[in-house]
Amino acid sequence: MLKDRYDRKLNYLRLSVTDRCNLRCTYCMPEKGIPMIRPDEIMTKQEILTLARAFLELGVTKVRLTGGEPTLRGDLSEIIRELKVMGAEQVVLTTNGILLRDKAKEYKEAGLDRVNISLDTLDAAKYREITRGGELSDALAGIEAALAEGLTPVKLNVVLMRGFNDVEADDFIELTRNPAIHVRFIELMPIGQAEGKQAQFMPVSEIIERYPDFIELQSYDHSVARRFQKPGYPGIVGFINPVSCNFCSDCNRIRVSASGRLRLCLHAGEVGNLKSFLHDPDQLKQEILRLVDQKPQSHHLDLKSDAGTNMNEIGG
Ligand code: SAM
Ligand code: SF4
Repeated sequence: MLKDRYDRKLNYLRLSVTDRCNLRCTYCMPEKGIPMIRPDEIMTKQEILTLARAFLELGVTKVRLTGGEPTLRGDLSEIIRELKVMGAEQVVLTTNGILLRDKAKEYKEAGLDRVNISLDTLDAAKYREITRGGELSDALAGIEAALAEGLTPVKLNVVLMRGFNDVEADDFIELTRNPAIHVRFIELMPIGQAEGKQAQFMPVSEIIERYPDFIELQSYDHSVARRFQKPGYPGIVGFINPVSCNFCSDCNRIRVSASGRLRLCLHAGEVGNLKSFLHDPDQLKQEILRLVDQKPQSHHLDLKSDAGTNMNEIGG
């Protein structure tokens, strides 16, 4: 079992499979001049699977595929299928949903368990603004496809921004009339492109206070969300406050970038490059065991993130 020096069990791997994206969300990626990982540094399918196998053998049970935009990889369904064959209990995906209309069925058949889809607004013009050119209708079609394929619950990730989408909270919550939809409001983290956007930061507690009649549900182990239901609505409304609250003591996550670099905390730098150990699975596992011991006890995001890069490279 993979554990760190604070006795936290690390069984959740967030694996970025690309840093490329078909959108340019203003808080995540710069419009132009994006420092990309060199194409030959991005892990091949085989490298990703070798790495994932080592983590699974060390006790990881859940793998989240993220990016950049993971659906841009043509071999994503093969990766999903192989991860399930290797015994991953849960394989889940974080996506902007733009390509899901055509891909959801393929992913479901490959064994994908469920999806998180990022959707910051329900207004087409605002969607174009925040994503720098994306079409809301594509994202909505992706959500419909995920629901139709049973990739559920579909969790909608809404990055909360004051003056932008806080006025849409009611509309998002209305979606939880559908039991298969969970809406999660996430605080804007001061990482990369979002550094200096403090004026837009809004604590999720301000939204929670608006709905005193909501019923709070028990949180799962390791959950980073406080979960509520609107009376009479079966779907769930989650609130994730990485900035104003610290859930580090229960953190079970490890992150690997698309070039194989290990990150033990979203807000700390990379600790090592696993790609150079892929030729020898035993050595790879030894290196993982050695490095995870450096997982920091907690972050200091209320002061500053030390991520040192943009979110498209880390994967959220
Ligand atoms: N492209 C996929 C997507 O958008 O879902 C996966 C990668 S994206 C980096 C993962 C998640 O990180 C998204 O839900 C996105 O909204 C979130 N994210 C990016 N930058 C953020 C920031 N500065 N604060 C909070 N969330 C952020
Ligand atoms: Fe792309 Fe996701 Fe970042 Fe938006 S949040 S730019 S969709 S990686």
